[in-house]
Amino acid sequence: MFDVIIIGAGLSGLTTAYKILQKEPSLRLKILEANDTIGGQIASSKLDGELGAKLLKADQAHIYNLFTDLGIHMLRRRPISRNLKRSWAIDSGPFAFIAKFELQRYMNDLDLQSQLFRPGTYDLSSEDKKYTMWRHIRKSLFFENSRLFMINFVRLIAGVDSKDISFVEFMNILHSCGDLTTLMELYIEPSQSVLEFSSEQLLAAFETRLEPVSIKRLTKVIEIQHHEDYVQIGETNGTIHTARVAVLAIPCNQIEDIFITPPIPMEWEIPYLGDKYFITSFRVNYDEPHWRRRGFSGNFYSSNPPIFAHQYKPTSLVGCILHGQGFELLIKSIVLKSLAESFGNEMTEPVSYIQQTYEQTSLLNLPYTTPWNRIIWSSTSTATLYRGCLNGAVQSGLRSAIHALLILRPQSINWQDLAEIQKASVVYRYPSHWDLLKSSMNVYNTMVYSTIAIVVFCVLKNRNKIFN
Ligand SMILES: Cc1cc2nc3c(=O)[nH]c(=O)nc-3n(C[C@H](O)[C@H](O)[C@H](O)COP(=O)(O)OP(=O)(O)OC[C@H]3O[C@@H](n4cnc5c(N)ncnc54)[C@H](O)[C@@H]3O)c2cc1C
Repeated sequence: MFDVIIIGAGLSGLTTAYKILQKEPSLRLKILEANDTIGGQIASSKLDGELGAKLLKADQAHIYNLFTDLGIHMLRRRPISRNLKRSWAIDSGPFAFIAKFELQRYMNDLDLQSQLFRPGTYDLSSEDKKYTMWRHIRKSLFFENSRLFMINFVRLIAGVDSKDISFVEFMNILHSCGDLTTLMELYIEPSQSVLEFSSEQLLAAFETRLEPVSIKRLTKVIEIQHHEDYVQIGETNGTIHTARVAVLAIPCNQIEDIFITPPIPMEWEIPYLGDKYFITSFRVNYDEPHWRRRGFSGNFYSSNPPIFAHQYKPTSLVGCILHGQGFELLIKSIVLKSLAESFGNEMTEPVSYIQQTYEQTSLLNLPYTTPWNRIIWSSTSTATLYRGCLNGAVQSGLRSAIHALLILRPQSINWQDLAEIQKASVVYRYPSHWDLLKSSMNVYNTMVYSTIAIVVFCVLKNRNKIFN
């Protein structure tokens, strides 16, 4: 019998194993991983450079400390000259300037409001469900460009369509994700505040440190039986593994594929899941940066279909595209066509192109933070800080390690371990009454400004008639 079996060798599962071993090297651990590689969403392609997640913010304490501990070198991203233009869907058209203005105000407003939505404090009543993010976006934003951007951004963050997520649910997710500005920097427009690391180096460091742990690849877990003193974990081929504790380090929307007996109580269930979305990340390498010749920085966003990309190395772009099931084979041509429309026909002939598809993780659940008897929740979707990001995976991994040790070796836990999990670098800023009033009056909406401008114009034009 093993002491701990970790299901999933993504960043959260690996962190759990690392932390447990660091505290109690004598414990017997096993990791079961469905893929033939470890790393989950940070896995890199050996073929031609890296594809998975690789950016973090220096103020994300959990991941920063873990990387320092593992000796992972973090590089600050090189600034791309501010004089270069971005190629963004929202930058085009005669109203680009005000569309961007209203979008920026709207995002700041959401960031502020989200601070009021601590997980667990909101009510998932049916009334809240009806007021979807889609409705909120349409009510608050006037320009189609800014609306489309937000609709895509919501899907990228939450993993579901903006019609399938209520305003309150999205605010709850935002609260634990840091804020929209952080997410913009990580997923869409990496700025200088972002650090970059090599996922190959990270995985190599984990493999060395986790040598005593048996990692079984190509092992998909399909069932877990929960007994009083142990758990039994079944693979697809019928093999059963027994352990004193099981850590589920897989995204919440994949837990439903595992048959758990006795069933998880209702309150753990994911409240709602819409259609499945996929995210294909790609890297396109060219012999020269054609975008530069046209005065562009390499930052690219097209709204339909939603593609985000940015210059990764001087002659290559990395990015992602959001799509439904079964579109993987079309992605290359869609991406190249879209790039060609913005940067010229040379973009259709890259030196090389690689892509990798992931199922978009849905964050539509309350973070599962309390273990359910001998089943412990991990994965970024159960984090309470920077959920959906790498830091969330590390935070949840550290928490689940502590939970496992509390069951197996409680004497090894000290107050510092408990404090470490909660250590937040996010400075939550509570909105003032004035901020809330401005936001409820929707004064950031460009339509409001336009109406005021039209009224003033009409008054001035007809002032003789009005005032005489
Ligand atoms: C393209 C892309 C780019 C990203 N870029 C960034 C970024 O730059 N910065 C950032 O902060 N975040 C980024 N993210 C998000 C970040 O990668 C994830 O939040 C993080 O890696 C999640 O780690 P995890 O361990 O929670 O889950 P995962 O990495 O999804 O790991 C789960 C593991 O469990 C395995 N598994 C699932 N089901 C089973 C089963 N039944 N049995 C056995 N094994 C199973 C899976 O194969 C997988 O290996 C990005 C995500 C993507 C997709």
